[in-house]
Amino acid sequence: MCKVIAISNQKGGTGKTTSCVNLGIGLASAGKRVLLIDTDPQGSMSISLGYSEPDEMENTLAKLMMNIANDEEFFLEDVLIHHNEGVDIIPSNIELSAIEISMVNVMSRELILKQMLEKIKSSYDYILIDCMPSLGMMTINTLACADSVLIPVQAAYLPVKGLQQLIKTISRVKRQLNPQLKIEGILLTMVDYRTNFAKDISAMVYDTYSSSIRVFRTEIPMSVRAAEMSVEGSSIYKYDPKGKAAHAYGELTKEVLNG
Ligand code: ADP
Ligand code: MG
Repeated sequence: MCKVIAISNQKGGTGKTTSCVNLGIGLASAGKRVLLIDTDPQGSMSISLGYSEPDEMENTLAKLMMNIANDEEFFLEDVLIHHNEGVDIIPSNIELSAIEISMVNVMSRELILKQMLEKIKSSYDYILIDCMPSLGMMTINTLACADSVLIPVQAAYLPVKGLQQLIKTISRVKRQLNPQLKIEGILLTMVDYRTNFAKDISAMVYDTYSSSIRVFRTEIPMSVRAAEMSVEGSSIYKYDPKGKAAHAYGELTKEVLNG
């Protein structure tokens, strides 16, 4: 059975893309068949996996979604990239922002990604979807087809406050489009252990949410190496295998595998 996990937070810079890439490659290293889908028109996931000019790509998620919206046949193989660390990728680029606008008049526009996944799910154990920082049509499409949402939260006061709005959106999608939708868990990222503040934030998130939502035991530490990784086109396991961020993402992978 394939599990579809959306990596979402409407705030930018909370570690969504970094977590999607490293959880995905972590799961692949554990022998799972993994597909990563970039749904951010900025193409950050594609870039951080080594495809540095996504806007030059012709075959991206935008093309597949256009095919589906127009009731045309689509060919996943045209778009799929096989990354050398064992995951498949569907890249995105700026064309995706045009799709959001042109979908306004399409029937069942919230369910386009879902239609696409129905056809490809059987080839994978995990599909991770890297969301863009908004709660617009693309994110709704993602939440409508996901089994669960993993929420990376930067360990700072304001990003934590924004969590409530995301949880509301998730509840709304659950009521209206996807009754099975669950929250996989809240993941604290960029935790700076040199400050007491980070410990306070971590305690606050735990106190506020852990009675109703899983808060992952693993926290992702602030790490210069993790920030550098995205310009190298490889995962943290390859870029800095002995570092604390690689260790943390390895632990997160185990937590996700254990359900
Ligand atoms: P999002 O996808 O939510 O916008 P990113 O994963 O792109 O977030 O991360 C935002 C920025 O923070 C990027 O420049 C990234 O390289 C950096 N970053 C990600 N994780 C860490 C970390 N654990 N420590 C330090 N910097 C990080
Ligand atoms: Mg991102």
